[in-house]
Amino acid sequence: MKLLVATSNEGKLAEVREILGSLLGATHELVSLADLALPAPDEPYATFHENAAQKATVSAQASGLWTLGDDSGLCVDGLGGGPGVHSARYAATDELRRTRLLRALNAVRIGRRGAHFVCAVALAAPDGRRLFRAEGRVDGSIAQGPRGMGGFGYDPLFLPDEAPGRTLAELSSAEKHKLSHRGRALERLKPLLRQLLEKGEP
Ligand code: IMP
Repeated sequence: MKLLVATSNEGKLAEVREILGSLLGATHELVSLADLALPAPDEPYATFHENAAQKATVSAQASGLWTLGDDSGLCVDGLGGGPGVHSARYAATDELRRTRLLRALNAVRIGRRGAHFVCAVALAAPDGRRLFRAEGRVDGSIAQGPRGMGGFGYDPLFLPDEAPGRTLAELSSAEKHKLSHRGRALERLKPLLRQLLEKGEP
């Protein structure tokens, strides 16, 4: 079976491939929007779940494939939960997004640098009518400056509570997936995905 991942974010796509790799085995295939020359769907809503559902539904209908949508972002306590659903649009590149975040937190005292990542995933049937959802979250805080080469996006700035002293970008990808918002969301969806891949229906 072909499963579409409705994202144009290469970092996300690589992670979804790693997390679902063993489930897919040699029989099933993950394809991306780029593989099918499909456009990235809009994310017009104010919640991660609504945006994930929109991405999955629109791309499922366009492709006729079971489709996984992911909407995720970084919510910082000292910024009123921002950038949140606007994480991707916070600036033009990953580096500029990190710079803007550090500047915004200049004035925020150390004890208020708490933050969490959220990932909402939605799996849509090929007709876009049936939808299955899951969510994952990881708590932590924002470092004083970027550290580490792994991951993508805000990873070099995020210190997960569960890996004290290291940013997400300083963890191996296996370590990141075990505790990350995306790893947790997809782990919750795995029983359903397993059934879909084995029986053709969840
Ligand atoms: P969207 O889900 O396409 O709206 O994009 C979410 C944005 O949040 C990404 O472009 C990244 O900037 C950020 N983001 C989401 N997940 C992660 C992650 O695992 N690590 C670092 N940044 C992330």
